Amino acid sequence: MDKSWMHCSKMAKEYEDGVEKFMRFTIANVKGNSVIRCSCTKCMNLSFRTHKVVREHLYFHGFDVSYTTWS
Ligand SMILES: [Zn+2]
Repeated sequence: MDKSWMHCSKMAKEYEDGVEKFMRFTIANVKGNSVIRCSCTKCMNLSFRTHKVVREHLYFHGFDVSYTTWS
């Protein structure tokens, strides 16, 4: 999967598309769990948040670029 969008400006359309792609990917893979690990620069995959909050964090804080393996 193309992850180059992670390095784009948060204002860029590519970033927005990437976040939406990431959210669809995680929602499809969590199989009904209401919370997922947040991959923003503040939570750094350590905190569990709802999809809605994760999306907000990715827009406001940015994506933790060290997190390149989606699982
Ligand atoms: Zn977060």
